[in-house]
This record gives sequence, structure tokens and C-alpha cells, in this order.
Amino acid sequence: MNHYIVSIEEVMKVDPIRIHVIHEENQTVQFAVLELQKYLTAITGQEVKIIVKSNFDEREPGLWIGLPSVLPPVQFSGERLEADDSIWIDVEGGNGIISGGNPRGVLFSVYRFLTELGCRWVRPGLDGEYLPNVSLSSKIVKLMESPAHSYRGICIEGSVSLENVTEMIDWMPKVGLNSYFIQLREAYLFFKRWYNHINNPLKSSTEVYSVEAAEACVRKAEIEIKKRGLIYQAVGHGWTCEPFGIPAQTWDKWEQEVDPEISQYFALVNNERKLWDGIPMNTNLCYTNSYARAKMITEITRYAAAHPEVDLLHVWLSDGSNNWCECDSCNKVSPSDIYVRILNELDEALSAENLETRIVFLLYKELLWSPVHEEIKNPKRFVLMFAPIHRSYRKSFKVEGELPESPKFVRNQITLPQTVAGNVAFLTEWQRHFSGEGFDFDYHLMWEHHKDPGNTMIAQILHRDIQHLQDIGLEGIISCQTQRSFFPNGLAMTVMASTLWDKKRSFDAIAENYFNSAYGKDGSLCRRYLQEMSELYFELDLENKAYRQKKGKNDVFQRIYSLFQQFEPVLTRNRIHDCICHSTSWRHLNMHAEIWGELTSALEELYRNNPKQAQTKWEALRLKLWEIEDQYQPVLDVYNFVWVFDGIFSEEQA
Ligand SMILES: [Zn+2]
Repeated sequence: MNHYIVSIEEVMKVDPIRIHVIHEENQTVQFAVLELQKYLTAITGQEVKIIVKSNFDEREPGLWIGLPSVLPPVQFSGERLEADDSIWIDVEGGNGIISGGNPRGVLFSVYRFLTELGCRWVRPGLDGEYLPNVSLSSKIVKLMESPAHSYRGICIEGSVSLENVTEMIDWMPKVGLNSYFIQLREAYLFFKRWYNHINNPLKSSTEVYSVEAAEACVRKAEIEIKKRGLIYQAVGHGWTCEPFGIPAQTWDKWEQEVDPEISQYFALVNNERKLWDGIPMNTNLCYTNSYARAKMITEITRYAAAHPEVDLLHVWLSDGSNNWCECDSCNKVSPSDIYVRILNELDEALSAENLETRIVFLLYKELLWSPVHEEIKNPKRFVLMFAPIHRSYRKSFKVEGELPESPKFVRNQITLPQTVAGNVAFLTEWQRHFSGEGFDFDYHLMWEHHKDPGNTMIAQILHRDIQHLQDIGLEGIISCQTQRSFFPNGLAMTVMASTLWDKKRSFDAIAENYFNSAYGKDGSLCRRYLQEMSELYFELDLENKAYRQKKGKNDVFQRIYSLFQQFEPVLTRNRIHDCICHSTSWRHLNMHAEIWGELTSALEELYRNNPKQAQTKWEALRLKLWEIEDQYQPVLDVYNFVWVFDGIFSEEQA
């Protein structure tokens, strides 16, 4: 009898895990199957076989994976399975079904199944993977969910290598994010910053980084986006000069002469029609000139036809402000009215070409004021994007009480409110003119996170913002951010992904799970340490630039130094970990303590009104950052970090 039982167990041990897939041509479902095979092999140590079948057969044990159309209907939940990106997992002891509302949903289901088994992805790249040892036979995973928000994405910014971008794209569906935005044509500037090592003179090269090289990176990134079935967003600024043969790949000045044949279509400001500050990207046109509009619309339509792979095409105007045309004709029309006229004409042109590309329009600077007369005629074509770039990140979208009245629009004399309520007031007014979908384009992880060394305050603001997005009529966030926003850790990124998926999940639950996953058994100590550091830095308020007036902060600096001291033994005892995920997290935290120890000392000089000493200390730290860039580059964007702190220290010199 004993002998019989043992031999059955042995058979079970060597028996491979079976993944059945019904003949499926969709590349995202195929990729989901391969990902499931890869990770199940890693966590079970068993052989995992993929078996292709022509139809579902309940007598065949193992996992069945695919779209709902080829699998039996699910009975156990009231959630909308047909919703985009919904996930459906019904697995017991290595047998059952993994499916989703669309191909991307099948991929989300695979990662969610693996997450329920204990896998974690705390940052992009292999060293961000925590993979436990699992016996599948004892596991039950049954769930069916739809994400709370439709728009859950990242927009390229900062400085990036191709690997930074592809690792981000690889990471996104693992945490439920569904859209990647390659901003500006060929994202040239972002790749150039990395490959020419701008802001690191120890590495910078004089070699010209070519547009062709950036194009090659974008084509490779597109392959990864499409493999995962992510929503692909593209372009943004540049439509005001590209149609006239002036490229808009950077915010640099255009050094060549502009033909008067072209400049006649530029906005007339202070009696001149010329590039705004010499920068094509920031230049507006004389939009009441029908030829200028037609040039733009022809170019956008051509681009949409040539790029059917783009799901959401962004059509923004100039990136400047107070630079709108003052000609007699333009003076009579508000910026948003003429913008809506352009959008309506574009819709007609796209429809005439049978192009279904959806267009994202931007509420930003002058365009925050709603139109007065014009209405968007075909709301289904468009998605509203609210970009409150001037907002404060010390308060969330949870607006209490009445919204303030928006300031009166005065052409070329605008100032924008910093308050969240002031920004939301613009959005609310706009929504009276547009009933279609909209999302927030926001900048929490672009600059502000650098001023919060614990990264937990910015993560909490992000959490509260997302929880209240639907209260202000928005269906998600596309985060305009440095791709390498994982220093000292990926809490804020994880909070964003998790809350966009499930807005009811508390910050505490997400944070506790994250810290334990990223650091192992001392995770909760890390959390307390970084939370305290965030709170102390919140008191210093780096967002508010008037450091000289911030007397009496000396005790805050003393509390920061003693926090570093108290945490030192925890850092020391965690220097060695077997697991690469945890050891990397602790290595980053050690480096973070070193960097922020020195940076705190430099900032203290600023608050003591010693700008020269402050600058000297910052320059010493900056040199060190340049020297050791290779040690942290996948998680911290030195281009961006140096840019932010050069700004802070040089302002006080001035
Ligand atoms: Zn004009």
C-alpha cells in the first residue's frame, strides 16, 4: 500500500504542467501563453507543456487559456466580462481556465494569476522580479474583475535608452497598465538625451545622435507594445511647424532662416510673425487663416493614414503660452473656439479618408479656458486630455467645497492657478462643451517626486488623485513622467497601477504589500523610514521656492539626520540577501541614503541662507552622481534629477 502511494506521488512530481491553447493567431494571446509557461517553469521547477487544441475539452486536465469565445461561459461573478481588459481566472490545483475580455485582458489574467501565486514585479527588469517556489497542486485562484479606469498609461519623458523603454513596456501589463505613449515624432529628444548623455559631462559625447537611430528605437518599442496588445498613443506637439517643413523634434531654437512664404502663417504677436522665441515647438499659427489650418489638417491626416498602428493620435498646438495671434481676425475668436474648429475640420478630413484613428485634444495653458461658441461635432472621434501642468502636488483632486470662478481670459496676458481647485474649475467648464471620454495627463513623477525623497507623499497624492478622478469626470491617467521613476523604489508607480485598476484599494494595503515584496522581512521598517523622511521633507516644502524666507527649519534638518542614523543598522544588516530582487532593493536604498545624506546637507545651507556653500556641496554631490551613474541608471534618471536640483540651487544664486 505504501509503495503504491509513493509511486503515485512520484508520478505527480514528474508529470508536466499542461497549458492548453485553442489554435489562436492573436500575438498577445500567444505571448500570454509563453509568459505563463516561462514563469510557471521558474516557480514550480516542473516541465510546462503547451498543447495546441482545436476546441475546448473538459476531459483534458490542465490549464486552458484564451479568449472567452473559445472557452465555456463563466458563471460565478456579476462583473462585466465583456468589458475591455477584464480578467477571468478559475483555476484549482493546476486545472481550469485563464481568460480575459480582450487579448490584453488574457495577458493581464496570466500576470494576475502569477501574482496570486506570489510572484511580484517591484520594478522593471529581471532584478525587479520576485519569484517564489510554488506547488501548483495546492493552489486555488478564482476571480473575475474589470479595471476601474479605461486609461492606465505612461508617456515617455526624461532621458531614455531603448532598454529603459522596452523594460518599462514589459513591466506595465504585469501591474495592469494598458497604454504606452511615445511622445513627439520618433521620441528623438528623449533618446538623444540618453545616447548623448546630456547632463552628465563625464559621459557626454559630441557625436550627433541621428533621427534614424531614434526611429529604429521607436520601431522596436512598437513591436513590444503590439506584442502586449497595449493601446499605442503618439505625437502631441509639433503640428504647427512640421506641415511647413520645420521639424519639431526638440525644444531647441531653429537656427535656419524661415522663408517669409512660411512665416506669413505664424501667429502675429507684438506686430511680428516669427517663431516664438525661435522655437518651432512653441510657435502658434494664425489659425483663422484657412490655409494654415488646411496645411495642418492635411499633415495630420497623412500621418494618421501612414500610421494605422497608432490607436490614439495626440493633436496639440504650441507648447508656449501668451503667444496667440493678435491679428484682427484671430482677436475675435477665443483659442479654444479656433481649436475646436480645427478638430471638427480634422474629423471631416479623417472621415473622408475612412480613417478611424481617435484624436486626443489637450486642455493646457490658454486651452484650459473652454470654448465660447464652437462645439465638437463628433465626440466619439475625440478624447479629452486634461493637463494641469501648473498644479500643486501637495493637494489631491479631492476638492472640498465650491470650485472657484476661473479667471477672465485676456489674450497673451494669462497666469494660471497653482491650486488644484482652480485647475479643476477649468475642466468642469470644458466638460459642459464635451460629453465624450477624458483622462488626466499628469506630472507627479516628472519633477515633483525628486523633491520627496521618501517617495511616499507623492505616492499618497497620486493615490488620492486617482481615487477622485471619476468624481471630476475623468477615466484614468496617462502619467507624463521620467521612465526611470523607481528610486529608491517603485512604490509610487505601483500605487498608480494598482489604484487605476482598483480604486477602492487602500494606500496602506498597497504600500504594505509593496514593501514586503520589495525588501522582504524588514519591509515594514523601510516603509516607516521612508514615510518619516517624506513627512519631514513635506515640512521643508521644496515645491515652494522661497527658501530664504523659510527660517526656523533647523530642527527639521536635525530630525532628518537622526532618521538616517537610526536606520543605519537596518541597512547594515540587510546588505546581503540571497534573492536578487531584495538585494537590489537594499542596494538602491543604501545608495539613496548616501545621496540624500549629502543632498540634505546642501539644502540645509540653502535654508540657512548660505547659497554659495549650498552650491558647492551640490556640485560635489553632482560630480559623484555623474561618476556612479551606471550603478543606478535603470531606476533614476540623472538627466532629470540634475536638471531639477540645478534649478533649485541656481535660483538661490541669482
Ligand atoms: Zn491671426
